[in-house]
Amino acid sequence: MTEPIGLPAPPAAGETALRPGTFDGTCVLVTGGGTGLGKAIASEFARLGAAIVIASRKDEHLDAGRAAMEALQASVATAVCDIRDADSVAGAFDAAEQAFGLPGVLVNNAAANFPVPAEDMSPNAWRTVIDITLNGTYLCAREFARRHLTAGTPGSIINVGASYAWTGGPGFAHSAAAKAGVKNLTESLAVEWGPYGIQVNGLVPGLFPHEDMTDDIKGNLDRTSDKDSAQPAMRVGQRQELGWAATFLASPYGRFISGHTLVVDGANWQRRSLTNPPVVTVRDQMGKGPFTPDA
Ligand code: NAP
Repeated sequence: MTEPIGLPAPPAAGETALRPGTFDGTCVLVTGGGTGLGKAIASEFARLGAAIVIASRKDEHLDAGRAAMEALQASVATAVCDIRDADSVAGAFDAAEQAFGLPGVLVNNAAANFPVPAEDMSPNAWRTVIDITLNGTYLCAREFARRHLTAGTPGSIINVGASYAWTGGPGFAHSAAAKAGVKNLTESLAVEWGPYGIQVNGLVPGLFPHEDMTDDIKGNLDRTSDKDSAQPAMRVGQRQELGWAATFLASPYGRFISGHTLVVDGANWQRRSLTNPPVVTVRDQMGKGPFTPDA
């Protein structure tokens, strides 16, 4: 009998696939770069010589991002920014330009999400997730492009997405709809801005557990009993694997790739069962009782 062995483990964190100094002299602005996957992506750019600007709302996240970049001896600046607000986004770009010059790479990583049955979701929750994840991504991309078009310089945008952009995301209807918008936006912008030298790609993480996950998301993850054997790869992702993909997409070696969304998830999103397992409602999966309109 053939035992499953899963996909091999990646090289250790700290190794780089690209040559050292690939991003010397390049400023990389990462929204939400002080936590989780944004910090992991920023770290790989930092290892390759980039000056990093971390933009998000909370001081504690900005401080954590700064400390992580300094530990890698990278140049780093932080900017308090709410990506839902165009003026706040412009302020973050001003701060970046002042510190290191116009960012050559924008990583649109910031997003908001929590699991909820669609019928329980408040209108405000729906609007907030769409506003951060879709509208915020657009506002940052817009600011980046307007500054590059004015300067006549090329650049690269990476929009961090999620695979339920293709499949729908039961229990995450707001985030899935927003990420579908982000994927579609990536395709439009890549064509519109290609003539001006701006590459626009998407990057989709699979399951990458990390210590900064919100309690809601951690709670959802805890409902999956064994994270590794629930993946076709027989393992979850290691954060450096996502960072390597991001640095490749924005590197000189990825310049002809644009309008593409790269999924880094060990094929988890393409899973289908040979048999049809019984349907379990989102309410049941979340341990919620019957729907009551007033709850
Ligand atoms: P996370 O730790 O919850 O980070 C979200 C970041 O976004 C935080 O740093 C937060 O910083 C920032 N943010 C939220 N709202 C913002 C706003 N209005 N303005 C500016 N910044 C804001 O999330 P993560 O797990 O690292 O996920 C990062 C990206 O990967 C997201 O796009 C997510 O959808 C995607 N993703 C993650 C996974 C996974 O397994 N973790 C899977 C699929 C997709 P502040 O609170 O300081 O603003």
